Amino acid sequence: MALNTILVVAEVHESGLHPVTLELLAKARAMGTSVHAVLAAASDGDTLASELGAHGASRVYLAENAELGECVGGFATAFAVRDAVAQCSPDLVLFGQTYHGRDAAGCASVLLQRTVVSNIVDLESEPELRAVSTVFGGTQRVATAVTGPAPALVVVRAKSFESAEPGSGSAEVVRLSLDLPRWVKAGRVAGRADESASGPKLEDAPVVVSGGRGLQDPKNFALLQELAAMLHGAVGASRAVVDAGWVPYAYQVGQTGKTVKPTVYIACGISGAMQHTVGMKGSKYIIAINKDEGAPIFKLADLGVVGDALDILPKLIAEVRSRAN
Ligand SMILES: Cc1cc2nc3c(=O)[nH]c(=O)nc-3n(C[C@H](O)[C@H](O)[C@H](O)COP(=O)(O)OP(=O)(O)OC[C@H]3O[C@@H](n4cnc5c(N)ncnc54)[C@H](O)[C@@H]3O)c2cc1C
Repeated sequence: MALNTILVVAEVHESGLHPVTLELLAKARAMGTSVHAVLAAASDGDTLASELGAHGASRVYLAENAELGECVGGFATAFAVRDAVAQCSPDLVLFGQTYHGRDAAGCASVLLQRTVVSNIVDLESEPELRAVSTVFGGTQRVATAVTGPAPALVVVRAKSFESAEPGSGSAEVVRLSLDLPRWVKAGRVAGRADESASGPKLEDAPVVVSGGRGLQDPKNFALLQELAAMLHGAVGASRAVVDAGWVPYAYQVGQTGKTVKPTVYIACGISGAMQHTVGMKGSKYIIAINKDEGAPIFKLADLGVVGDALDILPKLIAEVRSRAN
């Protein structure tokens, strides 16, 4: 099925565009004849619009309004989506599966009277539009034909597609003046708390050193912190240790945590339950340290080390340190 126009719902993240927006633009460019983006932002709209243009959007519907900084962003974005859809009649609208994207998709579904297909990891357009999700811990793919009147509203998991390097393209900017209802303005963001962290974010780190219950004690996560810092990486964790309160939920990798695709993933004392591996199996090289040679993580590992992580990690740290000097 030829898709004429794909509308990507852009999201602002810290100082720039959210990585998932860039991933969606790359996929949209590969699928659609014409790629448009819609952005509701409190400030820096023109800078963000030119970033969207450099990543392949030929037109950006921009709703810029200082008030948006205090609204619940996803709901305001849904109104911008409604207005952009009215202007460009896309076949497909793509949202990132973030808190913001989910709010926007749900609200846009009501405004546009269209159903939403969520938790998608791939999209196919031939012979018809199909949204692909995974089941059984990511071992099986299910393709759902998306039928009915356009546009299809699809919410895509982060890291499902590779983002592309920016090019020299620029976007035509179409300004939207949002007429937000009172209920959208009534919901205010009362405060923001930034978790203090050093080093790269888990989702973006080139190296992830993750720990599980096999580390025996939360204080042993200090070994992972030390190794990750030396490798310019980030620390991750299995749900077992997050549930036990050893580390915050922000560290969790897996089905109900984060999806990571680093160049190197080092799993220490993690069994390799499918709910964990679904969040890291896209890593380029997987190294596993586990004292049970039958642990499922070894089926996925490029390099498996059978042994006690608490013996091996200090030796690995000493070796990396000696090579760094
Ligand atoms: C709906 C649902 C969603 C879930 N979502 C997630 C998710 O997002 N992420 C996630 O991780 N899990 C998730 N889980 C939980 C998942 O099923 C596993 O229970 C969990 O991943 C196990 O964590 P673990 O590997 O740390 O612990 P365990 O399964 O207890 O494994 C510990 C491993 O450490 C090894 N070990 C022990 N001591 C040492 C040592 N000294 N040195 C080296 N190795 C040692 C053991 O051999 C074992 O393989 C989910 C479960 C459900 C039902």
